[in-house]
Amino acid sequence: EITSGEYLHAQLKRHFGFDSFKGNQEKIIRSILSGRDTFVIMPTGGGKSLCYQLPALISPGCAIIVSPLIALMKNQVDLIRSYSSKDHVAHFLNSTLSKTEIRRVKADLASGKTKMLYVAPETLTKADNLSFFRELQISFFAVDEAHCISEWGHDFRPEYRRLREMINAINDQLPVIALTATATPKVQSDILKNLELKNPNIFISSFNRPNLYYEIRPKRKKDQTLKEIVRFIMQHRGKSGIIYTLNRKTTEEIADMLVANGIRAVAYHAGLDAATRTQRQDMFLMEEVEVIVATIAFGMGIDKPDIRYVIHYNIPKSLENYYQETGRAGRDGLEGKCICFYSHRDVHKLEQLMRDKPLSEREMGAQLINEMVAYAESAVCRRKFILHYFGEQFEEENCGHCDNCLNPKEKIEVKNRVAIV
Ligand code: ADP
Ligand code: MG
Repeated sequence: EITSGEYLHAQLKRHFGFDSFKGNQEKIIRSILSGRDTFVIMPTGGGKSLCYQLPALISPGCAIIVSPLIALMKNQVDLIRSYSSKDHVAHFLNSTLSKTEIRRVKADLASGKTKMLYVAPETLTKADNLSFFRELQISFFAVDEAHCISEWGHDFRPEYRRLREMINAINDQLPVIALTATATPKVQSDILKNLELKNPNIFISSFNRPNLYYEIRPKRKKDQTLKEIVRFIMQHRGKSGIIYTLNRKTTEEIADMLVANGIRAVAYHAGLDAATRTQRQDMFLMEEVEVIVATIAFGMGIDKPDIRYVIHYNIPKSLENYYQETGRAGRDGLEGKCICFYSHRDVHKLEQLMRDKPLSEREMGAQLINEMVAYAESAVCRRKFILHYFGEQFEEENCGHCDNCLNPKEKIEVKNRVAIV
């Protein structure tokens, strides 16, 4: 019996070397194997990939996995190949492949040896691919990073909107599994609606990260804030941390200032060439530097389990971003301190960044900023606030691990609303 617990555990051990499933993994896998549409909401690091990789390996045919990032696609495929030692078990098809490579991939697919095919959404829209996929035995479709379908997510990709159309053009009878670490109710309903999931089984894991400590600090004068940061890092010598800032110039300034104070630090932002970015990222991963001072360009797909703190020098543009960025701390379940500096001036800077955007985008952006501001100014338990934002109830009155719970303050009015200019 393909869905028996014993069989699935044996396959888990055989293909991945793990002894037990994490969280909802086993239930999710059963759901796909039973042919149901399935919707998985699980925080980053929760183990979403295995939820489609294991069923793909044990089902007849090949699973088609839609993924937004070409770079991550290759990583995933390399990882699967390293488990299986058979290169043909997983492939990817995207714009980086040559004609010869594409022919080889398609030959493996046609031979039936390949169990997983990673594709970019654009791959599915190509006419000759469509007719090829129509002839192929497909086990199911997986849509990874499904929040890309929603403008309310942090990484909207318009091509994701056409996925249902593409899937129907290939085979509208196959189950679809959508996965995301974005849990806001708005994004969830966009995913359900756009992907037209049919009577799906929905699995929502808790987003609580009990080991993360959340604190908002008022941002004073620049010098003072920088001194605070240096003091904080000095108290955490030899540990890895990220400092997020709003703009590229500030990453360089702060990194230089840290180096001048004897702290090993580098800056990271999208203005650096690819080689420098990779080099600096590696320096951080290999612990040649303690601190990486970065814009939001840094972090996607970074798997460093022992990041001990994430400092936000500016508030991020949404609570969703804040959750994702702080979520990079303490992946190993040990200490993770999340310190965010907050000032009205920075709120204004965020508004300014939207200046030239169309009205609808500005409205949406203003709403997201307002929610972030409400969080920063709130006297409510930070954990409760964050989880509530994700539609999750946090029952305890006092989490004992955020500034508001450790130092309760009087409730203050939220006065700083962002105007739409
Ligand atoms: P996500 O996509 O949800 O962010 P990943 O699929 O990348 O997470 O998995 C995160 C980590 O968890 C990976 O290193 C993976 O090998 C590990 N992992 C997944 N499932 C299990 C399991 N059942 N037991 C142990 N480790 C697991
Ligand atoms: Mg993932």
